[in-house]
Amino acid sequence: YSAKAHRNEYSSYAPEMNRKAHDRLRLESDLRRAIDEEQFSLAYQPLVNLRSNQVVGVEALVRWHHPKRGLLPPGEFIPLTEENGLILQLGEWVLGAACRQNKAWQDAGLPPMMMSVNLSMRQFRQHQLAERIKAILEQSGMPPNYLELEITESMTSDVEFAADTLASLKELGVQISIDDFGTGYSSLSSLKRFPIDKLKIDRCFVNDLTQGGSDAAIVATITSMAKNLKLKVTAEGVENDEQIKFLRERDCEEAQGYYYTQPIPANLFENWFRHRSQTA
Ligand code: C2E
Ligand code: MG
Ligand code: MG
Ligand code: MG
Repeated sequence: YSAKAHRNEYSSYAPEMNRKAHDRLRLESDLRRAIDEEQFSLAYQPLVNLRSNQVVGVEALVRWHHPKRGLLPPGEFIPLTEENGLILQLGEWVLGAACRQNKAWQDAGLPPMMMSVNLSMRQFRQHQLAERIKAILEQSGMPPNYLELEITESMTSDVEFAADTLASLKELGVQISIDDFGTGYSSLSSLKRFPIDKLKIDRCFVNDLTQGGSDAAIVATITSMAKNLKLKVTAEGVENDEQIKFLRERDCEEAQGYYYTQPIPANLFENWFRHRSQTA
């Protein structure tokens, strides 16, 4: 009987494993083609200054228009590209497209805005990253001081490497922000060792900000310590008036989230921006 039981167990288990491995291989080959065929687009989400209520920048967020599966969010393919290295090519495309868009908006007469682009660990460790970004900036014609590179706390764990890399990026004249801040293990004091311009408070702390738990204290602490360290602060994932009110009272500089708009394609962002300027 044990052989039979074993066979049954095996036969229900193996196809499942096969299917997962197969899906992954399929996704990987789809991704290679997607990069060649540029099946990606960028969605833009505004960052708003809480004092002036002005849009001060946008974050570029990549989307994949999969020919069969439709629009895929980055969570469904970025991790795989980080594992297999395709993120290097995709990341260069994202940087180029974001810089060209920023330049196009400036040429079209929109007020100057920051353009935030997420870097992955693999990119951060890429040989001659600063030179590559410099070339992309030059090709696009976008002034470097409008580019903001978002890294995560985990990328700063090799302190010496991170300090060197960040110094080389700062030499380009770009801004550096720490994304998803608070979810890693870096202390604010350790951040003093890096040439960082901004902290983006992770949306998990902003979510229940006004629900009476410890998140209010966490956000208030990050905001006030960042101010002492002369860092800017952006609250991510802001969805309602109560959160905005709390953040204003704590002197948090900027907010980003569905409260203003979801990430949207460039043409929709232009409409949103013009409409907002007219009604403000
Ligand atoms: P992130 O950099 O922290 O970007 C913010 C994410 O939060 C976006 O998800 C955005 O749609 C979402 N979000 C913004 N406001 C709200 C809100 O009010 N409520 C909620 N629930 N969510 C909100 P998205 O676009 O799915 O991106 C997920 C992550 O994928 C990003 O997190 C970023 O880490 C990564 N990612 C996106 N684009 C790129 C890219 O070009 N390169 C790399 N390396 N990573 C990227
Ligand atoms: Mg980000
Ligand atoms: Mg991120
Ligand atoms: Mg984030």
